[in-house]
Amino acid sequence: MSAGPVSSMPVVWSPDTRRHDPKHEVWVGVPTPGTEVSARVDAILDAVAGHPLVEAQPHGAEALHRVHDPELVAFLASVHDRWLAGEYVELVGQDRVVPYFFPTPAMSAGLPLRDAPAVHALVGRFAYDTMTTVGPGTWPAVAAAADCALTAAALVAAGTPAAYALARPPGHHATPAGYGGSCYLNNAALAAQALRDAGRDRVAVVDLDAHHGNGTQAIFWERGDVLYGSLHVDPGTGWFPHVLGYADETGSGGGSGATRNLPLAPGTGDDAWLDAVSALRDWVSDAGCDALVVSLGVDAAAADPESPLEVTEDGYRGAGLLLGGLGLPSVLVQEGGYHLPSLGSLVAANLDGHEQGQVSGTSGERSAGSGPSAPA
Ligand SMILES: [Zn+2]
Repeated sequence: MSAGPVSSMPVVWSPDTRRHDPKHEVWVGVPTPGTEVSARVDAILDAVAGHPLVEAQPHGAEALHRVHDPELVAFLASVHDRWLAGEYVELVGQDRVVPYFFPTPAMSAGLPLRDAPAVHALVGRFAYDTMTTVGPGTWPAVAAAADCALTAAALVAAGTPAAYALARPPGHHATPAGYGGSCYLNNAALAAQALRDAGRDRVAVVDLDAHHGNGTQAIFWERGDVLYGSLHVDPGTGWFPHVLGYADETGSGGGSGATRNLPLAPGTGDDAWLDAVSALRDWVSDAGCDALVVSLGVDAAAADPESPLEVTEDGYRGAGLLLGGLGLPSVLVQEGGYHLPSLGSLVAANLDGHEQGQVSGTSGERSAGSGPSAPA
């Protein structure tokens, strides 16, 4: 299925994406080993070796400010140096930036808040969880991941049918002015905005990651020119991001109806998962979009430790066929996926499916109960 000319989709990557080392995640107050590790980059590179490799080109802060608050960008670029200038390493041995204090609406109670002068108290203005640490290589990797997405978008804007951005760390949980969920800057949103800026009228973002992309949803919530559709494990069953990702969230203002969430029960496998992909495919098709961004998280796979969904490699290939079959210029952006032994082959299967879908134009009907490529 992947033989011959179907492996022409460029893979955009950067060696700098290996530089972020979360070291640990602080979950329910306990440091646990990080799962968003640099070995993910190499696992994927190995699996997509048949594709042409393109190194990401640097983009300035202006491109990042198209979807992010400049204060978030400046904070991420400088906070680790500020942390090291404090006494956190000497006092408690903590060389990663981790918040302990969150100025939520429950604290401010409507009163005006100023920025905390102490860096360890300021972090909680931007970080919304304790799992997403900032270390010495985090900013170079975050900037490189954004560059991967922007370079892939530039290739597609210039006429390449589809390009894959090997973005790491992932991005879809990053909001206009906040970071969390192992995400710092929203790579998929940057790609969608870049396609708009290159003249595409209406861009669809379809999010295949096991978790709801609350950041992407937030960025485009009030916009009708970028659709956001996601299928993900139902946050109502206790999964991240817990408070967002429900079916009744459909956008507002100019973006009314331009957000669509399809929460899925834990244990959902290929058939129901591909039905949801089909529903989003039809939604995008009916909306008259002229470009597509896929948030390609592969953590919905059965073996993945970070979600209870049970999608197979054939499922991810089938999703690629369905979305590629839309025939739209496409930027595929890496999101989650944490089971190192299968991570690369899941990504490669989706890329193969997408490219085959684009080539054969299989945008037609998906027979009930089984994907066009899912034999079992
Ligand atoms: Zn995820």
